[in-house]
Amino acid sequence: MKPASLIFLPLVVSLSALARDKAPAGLYESYTGFAIAAEPVLPAKETHPSLWFSAAEIPALKARLTADDFGRTRWSAIQKLANLSAPLPPAPVATGPGDKNEAIHKYYGALSMAARAHALVALLASDEATRAAHRARTIELLLRAYDGPIFQLDSRTQGSAVDEIYRGSWLQNYAAAYDCIQPSLDRATDEKIRARLALEAECVYENLYAWTPDSPHNHLSKPAWGLGSIALALPSHSHAKLWLGRAIEAANKNTRYFFSGDGIYREGSHYLMFSLTNFLPFLYHYRNVSGVDAFPAFQPVFEDMIEARNSHGWLPNIEDSYIRPTPTHLAAAAYRNAHTRLHSSAPLAELLAWSYATCDLAPFEKARADDGFNYTGASLDYPLEIEELLTHDASIRATAPDLTPNIILAGGQSYFRDSWTNRGAGQRYLLFHGVAVADNHNHDDQLSFLLEAEGQMMCSDSGYSRGTYTGEERTKWYNTAPAHNTLTFDGKPAVDSAPNATPPSLFRVDQPGLVGEEKEAFFGKDGKAAAWRRAIFWIAGDYYVVADRVNAKQSGKIAGYLHAGRGTLATDGGQRTWTYSADRYGSAAQLHTWIAAPGATLAEKKGELTYIKGDYAEFPYVGLDATGADAAWLTLLKPAPAGSAGSAFTATDRSTATFSALLVSAADHRSFMVAQGKPGTHVKLDDVETDAAFALVRRDLAGHVLTFAVLDGTSLSVAGKEIWRAEKVTNAARVLAP
Ligand code: MN
Repeated sequence: MKPASLIFLPLVVSLSALARDKAPAGLYESYTGFAIAAEPVLPAKETHPSLWFSAAEIPALKARLTADDFGRTRWSAIQKLANLSAPLPPAPVATGPGDKNEAIHKYYGALSMAARAHALVALLASDEATRAAHRARTIELLLRAYDGPIFQLDSRTQGSAVDEIYRGSWLQNYAAAYDCIQPSLDRATDEKIRARLALEAECVYENLYAWTPDSPHNHLSKPAWGLGSIALALPSHSHAKLWLGRAIEAANKNTRYFFSGDGIYREGSHYLMFSLTNFLPFLYHYRNVSGVDAFPAFQPVFEDMIEARNSHGWLPNIEDSYIRPTPTHLAAAAYRNAHTRLHSSAPLAELLAWSYATCDLAPFEKARADDGFNYTGASLDYPLEIEELLTHDASIRATAPDLTPNIILAGGQSYFRDSWTNRGAGQRYLLFHGVAVADNHNHDDQLSFLLEAEGQMMCSDSGYSRGTYTGEERTKWYNTAPAHNTLTFDGKPAVDSAPNATPPSLFRVDQPGLVGEEKEAFFGKDGKAAAWRRAIFWIAGDYYVVADRVNAKQSGKIAGYLHAGRGTLATDGGQRTWTYSADRYGSAAQLHTWIAAPGATLAEKKGELTYIKGDYAEFPYVGLDATGADAAWLTLLKPAPAGSAGSAFTATDRSTATFSALLVSAADHRSFMVAQGKPGTHVKLDDVETDAAFALVRRDLAGHVLTFAVLDGTSLSVAGKEIWRAEKVTNAARVLAP
């Protein structure tokens, strides 16, 4: 048999050539990501079962079904999926090669998942009659694998019912189903089933690059991991080595470019989950079948899920993404012996178990109850409960990280948090985002930040979109700069200095009472029109100052955006207060903000925000507009518990025409913050004097300096005394007392 989809190949070769002209040479090989060994390794002898477990491991797997609640609920879900009383639907009929009928997608997803569920029950059910009935159903389903119109449909059609992003999961489902029941097959049946699975393997092998010719994004990697799994399920097939070789080659193209070396996925958290549903099974299959352990290459990916999660255990809705949980439990068993920098002694397995165990799944459970879809983005194709059961190991303890909770990644994300475990009063989490832009699912969010404090999501990214990828609300709002805590110059978003160049991290401090970083991004063609330096300092473990400096070659329109999540906004003079109700995203809380931006116009606007698919609404944000070549703006963010009116914390805008300044008065200290667009001018604010672009001085009520920070300066004096001096313009920060 020859895959009918081969007829699409000639057209696709030219598309591929076109795409190669578009991307700069070497773009996809020049980032910091990772790859696994290119040489495909197959076992000397084909053995079944072998993908998820060996025959010798079946008794232990059976014991897992009833060992704890986790096992019982997953086993129950699997039995529901393996429904013998449900009649098998007839194969659908397509209207043409571009058919987008979701019923066709659902057919292949449901039947391949059912095959997998029946196959497991055929192995694990306690009585022989049940096992035999499910074995018969599995065989029936495998003999129908890929019937219907799949080979007449063109996966390249946008929204195709047989899109390549689904085909990887179907292959992995059938691979697992076949692997379970293969030893019980007679030779003729075995050959028929193998022929059906090999037909699709051959089709994916031949069309993989044709389906996704432009960039090695998830549409390339997802079917590639599926192709790898089917090669490992049919390793004695004469093409298995070719399939596996191409699978690894294509998946490596994705992981080299879309992951940073420290595990940040540049398509965002949603596509990370969506990809995980394919790379996780492949990693287990490759290790179990061929003895090749590629989990170490992926270790930074799982570590970054722990690093990036907020206090609820959620990954950010950055890029085309909703918030996502950390399903790290699926990988824990693979890292039993892996040392991690996140803990001084516990293996990574325990931290992965902890991250899932402490993840608040309530918003995702609600979404599933509302629309039937779970958090994987692959509910129609990926049986999460099966893989949860297969990877579950109740003996792995849950251990929180003991590494310092403030992490600055070379890949460009920084996470400042008060603690790995605090979810109550005083909770603080800030994500500072400056990751080199990748060419798929990108949003114009350079140097943006997210703040979660007092258990509530505050400063926000507007998210993916309302609910679908298509639709003007996404391209006209959600992925634009104004939907993010960022700046624009002449209406254009910040860019990187070169392809794959991470925005420079110019300065860092991480000491008790003062944590911060300065990053740099650029505006204009090739980043030549203007430089933007943004520093974020977290002060006294409590509040934040965001210092923005823009220096352009020529005057232009400088705009800024401050988004603070799902709050109502009240303005009192220079103070803006966002008030949050207790909701599915966190506790009742408040965020007080002050903006010092002399010469800029501030306006309160409304913009749409989505954390979870479908749960969208408009919320207030602040826009800043100015015209000039140089600007220095200060934004103060002071989170507070609900009902904290009358607290001793206040701030005063002391800006002049030449510099921005804020004075903070707290219960036990005072902070001075000054900034100027063109450093070098002598600035005097009460008894604080400096020539720096930015200076921060925090003093106790008796006037003793507790902390200070200077960016791009040579001197800082307080109360007539020079407390810091440098020969050349530089940066400094000191904590004299916390
Ligand atoms: Mn966004």
